[in-house]
Amino acid sequence: MSLLEEKQHNLELLSSYKLGENIRNFVFSIEKDFKFLPGQFLIFKLKLKNNEEISRSYSIASPHLKAGEIEFCIKKVNEGSGLIFDLKKGDKITATGPFGKFIVSKSDSEKIFITVGTGVAPFRAMIPDILNKTKQKVTLIAGFRFERLTLYSDEWRTLESEFENFKYFEVISKPEKNKTKQKGHVQDILKNFLKEDNSKKEFYLCGVGEMIKSVSKLLKQQGVLDNQIFFERYS
Ligand SMILES: Cc1cc2nc3c(=O)[nH]c(=O)nc-3n(C[C@H](O)[C@H](O)[C@H](O)COP(=O)(O)OP(=O)(O)OC[C@H]3O[C@@H](n4cnc5c(N)ncnc54)[C@H](O)[C@@H]3O)c2cc1C
Repeated sequence: MSLLEEKQHNLELLSSYKLGENIRNFVFSIEKDFKFLPGQFLIFKLKLKNNEEISRSYSIASPHLKAGEIEFCIKKVNEGSGLIFDLKKGDKITATGPFGKFIVSKSDSEKIFITVGTGVAPFRAMIPDILNKTKQKVTLIAGFRFERLTLYSDEWRTLESEFENFKYFEVISKPEKNKTKQKGHVQDILKNFLKEDNSKKEFYLCGVGEMIKSVSKLLKQQGVLDNQIFFERYS
């Protein structure tokens, strides 16, 4: 789609809730006939105090297509994301899209999703979609710095109990004292998946650049081909 054809949407903040330190789930209203492919993102048009307009991309994190609503999982980092955290219920913003080619392939390969932090956002749309449409084996490996920063853990565990073809692994790189969660990095869990034949597996990576670089390197060292690796880089 060319820039001239970009579809503009008027979003109104319906609600938001805290997920973790400086991370919130936002629910906005959008046209009832809005359509997207799980994994895609919108570009928010945000106005700074001096009226300058800036653009920031956010993955659509809606687990189900609920007509007229769209969800995002956003971390407050700096000026742009800060403007979204400043929004009050009923405030309006504009966004364009949906954009992006980070979507689930139609192949019947086993699918392994790997993320750190808010990179889990598009997976909240992609994974339920696959589970509801196919019997494919799906795994999510999610890494967080601290227990208090884990995102949607209860939802993933509920999905795990509903779909026997779905497994969720959570690792914490800096567990606080007396916590029992698994300590480590996503790579530690991933290594177990790379011991067998990898030719019928696809890997979906999302988050900030460093994780994508190091996980891609690990995958390639184990013989995984470029066309089996799909990624969305946040920076
Ligand atoms: C396709 C795409 C989808 C994205 N989807 C999301 C999303 O669903 N949720 C989300 O929170 N962000 C997402 N981002 C990042 C988002 O677009 C902004 O970059 C982010 O909100 C920071 O903007 P800022 O103006 O607050 O800070 P800036 O001053 O623009 O950035 C400051 C620094 O923050 C780092 N950064 C950017 N995003 C994150 C993050 N999520 N966590 C930790 N560090 C980060 C960058 O490396 C950058 O150097 C996405 C980016 C892309 C390209």
